[in-house]
Amino acid sequence: MKIAPLVEAGPELSAGEIRRYARHLVLPEVGNLGQRRLANARVLCVGAGGLGSPVLMYLAAAGVGTLGILDFDVVDETNLQRQVIHGQADVGTKKVISAARKIAEINPYVKVVTHDIRLDPTNVLEIFANYDIIVDGTDNFATRYMINDACVIAGKPCVWGSLYQFDGQASVFWATYGPCYRCVHPTPPPAGLVPNCAEGGILGALCASIGAIQATEVIKLISGVGSPLVGSLIIYDGLESNFEKIHIAKDPACSVCADPSSATLEKDYESFCGAPSFASEITAAQLATRLRSGENFQLVDVREPYEWDDSHIEGAVLIPQAEFYDGRAQTKISHDLPVVLYCHLGIRSAHALSALKQSGFANASHLLGGIDSWDEYVRNE
Ligand SMILES: [Zn+2]
Repeated sequence: MKIAPLVEAGPELSAGEIRRYARHLVLPEVGNLGQRRLANARVLCVGAGGLGSPVLMYLAAAGVGTLGILDFDVVDETNLQRQVIHGQADVGTKKVISAARKIAEINPYVKVVTHDIRLDPTNVLEIFANYDIIVDGTDNFATRYMINDACVIAGKPCVWGSLYQFDGQASVFWATYGPCYRCVHPTPPPAGLVPNCAEGGILGALCASIGAIQATEVIKLISGVGSPLVGSLIIYDGLESNFEKIHIAKDPACSVCADPSSATLEKDYESFCGAPSFASEITAAQLATRLRSGENFQLVDVREPYEWDDSHIEGAVLIPQAEFYDGRAQTKISHDLPVVLYCHLGIRSAHALSALKQSGFANASHLLGGIDSWDEYVRNE
């Protein structure tokens, strides 16, 4: 499918820009006009992580005039294996700051706008209004559905990518010309069924394979070159070195894009995706206070037996995460006492909590940051 260029051409290029973009300018499909469209474009990347790193770096080098970076996270040592826009010296720094510094180093002609916030239904449309294209570089279903819905409502293309272990996918969801994410995935998977990168692992180089596809799609949409991935999904199997491109169709009954003019955002994407609300989280300090107070409650470790054997919190019992999905855990936990779940990092426990709440355990919460944050609290106390 051919789609007209999304962005008007900006002013004539300076002598410095003509030197810098020489290899683009000789491409007949891009040329001077295409490069001026890139310079005039405004692209928002949600997430400055595994996918956001290559997307932002290549779009900066390509001369996209305005790059928005949205992320509220801080660079952690475990990010460096794949989030190549950040370096060792950036550990502990806000990701938006670290990414903005790197972009300034790559190309001083790019204007960077940082959004150091958590995207939510009250701010998403206002932020998206400032951009031509939205890149989804997130790793969770709640944000993914929110980005999709907001793009449908705003009539903007969402350049989407997703990663798991050695596999990646990419597409352009643009309801004006093709399907949206919900046409393909009308409802989120049950909470806990799909592990995230922290639990399942990810090959770092895979981020570049999929991120580079996303950056290429952004440039194609801006300049009107080639056939964008609208209505198509690329599936990359890194282990077998296999790329597959499949057709995806618009769902005429899609709850969002069948009639974008009447589409609305969900009020709470976390609960829509089955994740517990923030009210169900407790911190390590709060847990310590409750343990010290002698309160009668059930502390449950949802990790695997080998992790439990390594270390666990005094007073806890072990019920591995899988038992929460087949109902076994629910028979071992009393309805009459409050329950607190924990795991390694607070991700599995959040999913197990969701299953527990669906079984009617109202007085349940989980430990934010898992046993890692507990160990840190105990060390610093
Ligand atoms: Zn749709």
